[in-house]
Amino acid sequence: MALVVQKYGGTSVGTIEKIRNVARRVARTYDDGNDMVVVVSAMAGETNKLVALAEEICEFPSEREYDVLVAAGEQVSVALLAMVLQSMGYKAKSYLGWQIPIYTDNAHTKARIDEIQDANIHEDLRSGTIVIVAGFQGIDRDGNITTLGRGGSDTSAVAVAAALKADVCEILTDVDGVYTTDPRIVPEASKMEKISYDEMLEMASLGSKILQIRSVEFAKKYDVVVHVRSSLNDNPGTLVMKEDSDMETVLVSGVTYNKDEAKISVLRVPDQPGIAARLFSPLSDANITVDMIIQNVSHEGSTDLTFTVPRSDFKKALKIVEEAASKVGASGVESNESIAKVSIVGVGMRSHSGVASKMFTTLSTEGVNIQMISTSEIKVSCVIDDKYTELAVRVLHEAFGLDKGQLTQE
Ligand code: ADP
Ligand code: ASP
Ligand code: MG
Repeated sequence: MALVVQKYGGTSVGTIEKIRNVARRVARTYDDGNDMVVVVSAMAGETNKLVALAEEICEFPSEREYDVLVAAGEQVSVALLAMVLQSMGYKAKSYLGWQIPIYTDNAHTKARIDEIQDANIHEDLRSGTIVIVAGFQGIDRDGNITTLGRGGSDTSAVAVAAALKADVCEILTDVDGVYTTDPRIVPEASKMEKISYDEMLEMASLGSKILQIRSVEFAKKYDVVVHVRSSLNDNPGTLVMKEDSDMETVLVSGVTYNKDEAKISVLRVPDQPGIAARLFSPLSDANITVDMIIQNVSHEGSTDLTFTVPRSDFKKALKIVEEAASKVGASGVESNESIAKVSIVGVGMRSHSGVASKMFTTLSTEGVNIQMISTSEIKVSCVIDDKYTELAVRVLHEAFGLDKGQLTQE
């Protein structure tokens, strides 16, 4: 008998009919003799609707109340799934984050799980109950409801699997695995049999929304093998796991894009010690993550600083940066929301040269201007005008031999 954690995403529970399909699959796995913990997202589109309601009221709603609001989506789907399973004759019980409890820090809208008390779950499993857990939510130590950031049910699932030392952690979704790029953009994308934690971390943080980045961090930290597969068929999906020796032979494993960032430039910042700290500390105090940062070579004692922030935090960030910029004596602030970041990822880059230059040449051949560049051991990212995103992803995918049927070589 194994302990199986399955997570079903929003599209997989988008209608009652789909919830019935999920229930049949859960029941089948249970009937095979497994203990079952099921983590579910809100029905497709529900979280967006709740966010839109908050936005109708004000631009910056209280983050505490935002979390109370958006956590409601999962309350609906867990109850519906439990009802369907019960109507099929199974013992099933739904739990919200606070009822388990899943403890998080108090960073509303992007909280981090720090402890899961699993006694309730174990007791239910012992009595043969299928446990259904609301994804995306937790509770802080002061009893406030928190949410884990968009796509956070993935993280709930992996954290629950880690806490329970589950034998299997399956993320069931509307594609049958992790592809070399988003198959909605490039139909020639190929499914990977396996991908290392580090590559998946890069892909997730560079925009591939198939898994939330924190779910991969959890999986890596606690050695949880995550199986990403379709909720509609039994095809083997993609294993997200420790790196093995064949992974290094592939030069580039995936291409990602991210249209969720915006660019802010602070102009003619005095080039003195401590200035960057004075600009960036207020952003980190406001829990805004700054991604790429570029500082130009200093000219006559001043320099330009350009960086990217999540588009969802853009207005808030701009306000903070404008205040900080005037305090440090910068001459002005410019911003651009119409940018996209395209990236190539692969552990094979560690041992091969020429990958970045091939990326730049490929983009330039298509007339795509590169605004910012950043690299790590296993990725290269370029910021470009967002109207070229799809084109850039397609040509890079082809140039690095990732299209279906092309051989991955080098
Ligand atoms: P869920 O609702 O199940 O959480 P998501 O919409 O969050 O599903 O994630 C699945 C989607 O991720 C797919 O429909 C696909 O368009 C997108 N996606 C982006 N990058 C990739 C990739 N590299 N491989 C597979 N899917 C990807
Ligand atoms: N319902 C949440 C969202 O739409 C969490 C999730 O689906 O993972 O972001
Ligand atoms: Mg998702």
